[in-house]
Amino acid sequence: LDFEKRIRAAGDTVFQLDLENALRYSLKREVGGNKKISGEKLDALRKYINVLVKYFPFGEKGKHLLKHIQDYVNSSPEIDGHHIAEHIKQADQPGQNVFSGSEQWLGCRGSSSTFRGYPCGLWKLFHFLVTNAALDPSNNQDTKPTVVLEAMHGYIKNYFGCVDCSEHFQDMAKKRKIFEVQSWEESILWLWRAHNEVNKRLSGDASEDPRNKKIQFPSIQRCLKCYKPDGRWQEVEVLSYLKEMYRADKINYMYSD
Ligand code: FAD
Repeated sequence: LDFEKRIRAAGDTVFQLDLENALRYSLKREVGGNKKISGEKLDALRKYINVLVKYFPFGEKGKHLLKHIQDYVNSSPEIDGHHIAEHIKQADQPGQNVFSGSEQWLGCRGSSSTFRGYPCGLWKLFHFLVTNAALDPSNNQDTKPTVVLEAMHGYIKNYFGCVDCSEHFQDMAKKRKIFEVQSWEESILWLWRAHNEVNKRLSGDASEDPRNKKIQFPSIQRCLKCYKPDGRWQEVEVLSYLKEMYRADKINYMYSD
C-alpha cells in the first residue's frame, strides 16, 4: 500500500509521531519564541507543562526532559522561553532518542504543506491529554476535572500563534463555560463539542484541505452507534468512541513512509 492508503487504513487512530511533533513545535517555536515569560503567561505555561508531565506518552528519556523543563519553569518568577527551545533542540540531536522520529506528520499530513500539520496535531494532543486525564485511575476528589481544559485554555490564549483561532477559542470557552465543567467525562465531551463547532465554522473555508473535509466528528461511517435514528448525537456512544480512539494504549507507533 502507498503511504496515503496506509494512513487512511488506520482510520481515526492517533499516531505517536503526530503527538510528538505537536509537542516539539509547541515548545520549540511557540513557547520558545518568547524571551521573557512571567505573570499570567508563566502560570499558563506551568499548567501546560504539568499536564504534559502527567499524561504525555513519552518514553523514559522524554519524561526526563519534561521533568527538567518543569523544574525550570518552576524555578523563578521570570523565565526565558529560548532556554526551553534549546532543550528541545538538544533532544532532537542524532543519538538522543527522545523523540521517536523526525519532524513529519502522519495522521495530520495535509495534501499540500499549507494544510493541516501543527493545528491538527495540537487538537489531537489536547484530546489525547483530556481523555487520558479522565481515564487516570489515580484521580480523586482533589484532582479537578478541568485540569487539562484549563491548561489548554491558557496555552491557546497565551501561546497559540494563530491569533484569530485563539480569540475564537476564548469566546467559545466563555460561551460554553469551560471552567464550570463538572466531571471528567464532561471534560472529554466539552472538547469534542468545541472542536465540532470549529469544524462547522470552517467547513468549506479556504483553509479546508480538499482531501480532508471538515466533518462533524466522528463520521457516521466510523461510528454508526454515535447517531440516533433522527440524526442527533448519541452522546454515550460518542464518549466511548473518543475514549477508545484517544486512550494511550491505542496509540499507533507507525513512524514514517
Ligand atoms: P482538525 O480540525 O485539526 O482535527 C484534527 C483531527 O482531530 C481530525 O483529523 C480528527 O481525527 C480529530 N477530530 C476532529 N474533530 C474532532 C472532534 N470534534 N472531537 C475529537 N476529535 C476530533 N482555523 C481557522 O481557520 N479558524 C479558527 O478559528 C481556528 N480555531 C482553532 C482553534 C484551536 C484551538 C485549534 C487547535 C485550531 C484552530 N484552527 C482554526 C485550525 C483548524 O481547527 C484545524 O486544526 C486546521 O484547519 C486543520 O484541520 P484538519 O482537517 O487537519 O482537522
